[in-house]
Amino acid sequence: MLSGHCDLDENNCLLDFSSTFETIFNRSSKPQIRGGFSIDNMALLTIYHALDPILRKKAKPVKNIDGELADLTQDMIETMYDAPGVGLAANQIGLPASFFVIDLGIEKEKRDPRVIINPTMVLSGEMEDGEEGCLSIPDVFAHVKRYSLVELKGYDLNQNEIRIEADGFLSRAIQHEMEHLNGSLFWDNLGVAKRDILKRKFKKKLRDK
Ligand SMILES: [Zn+2]
Repeated sequence: MLSGHCDLDENNCLLDFSSTFETIFNRSSKPQIRGGFSIDNMALLTIYHALDPILRKKAKPVKNIDGELADLTQDMIETMYDAPGVGLAANQIGLPASFFVIDLGIEKEKRDPRVIINPTMVLSGEMEDGEEGCLSIPDVFAHVKRYSLVELKGYDLNQNEIRIEADGFLSRAIQHEMEHLNGSLFWDNLGVAKRDILKRKFKKKLRDK
């Protein structure tokens, strides 16, 4: 039986890889395949929109890193590129669990998709302003201030610890995905007036669909 440590809070916790996928993701919250398959025959998953309550749930730690999670995250990567986007958190496909996929090659315009499980981050540097969008809030963009530097730690699908230091747009993207796992959205960083304008715009877009 495999086990490992994670720094999810002040106290280290022992990861229990022996529990099954279903103990974290009950059947009713399994991701939905939205009918389409990509050219690689990967399933494209439904991306939940910003007003769905699932986007407000705090992610629970992943206890079981197994083949089912590997398959699911492969579908998430496919869904992310199809959208197209550079990151996709588990809440966005209907699972309040602590993992996301991200393209680490976004600044080099070379694909480098990664799966980050049970992540933690440390922020530093200056506050930088930059434009952001979100796959759960299509066609809505706003300027958000973020820390310029991030140190991200977590696990990969092989249960190896990973550590990534990032700046620039990648740092912004990581902070955006971490926010999803915390049940927040990028427009929560804005003032009430600005956020309400964007929400109204988004609700109208949903109505007009
Ligand atoms: Zn997002």
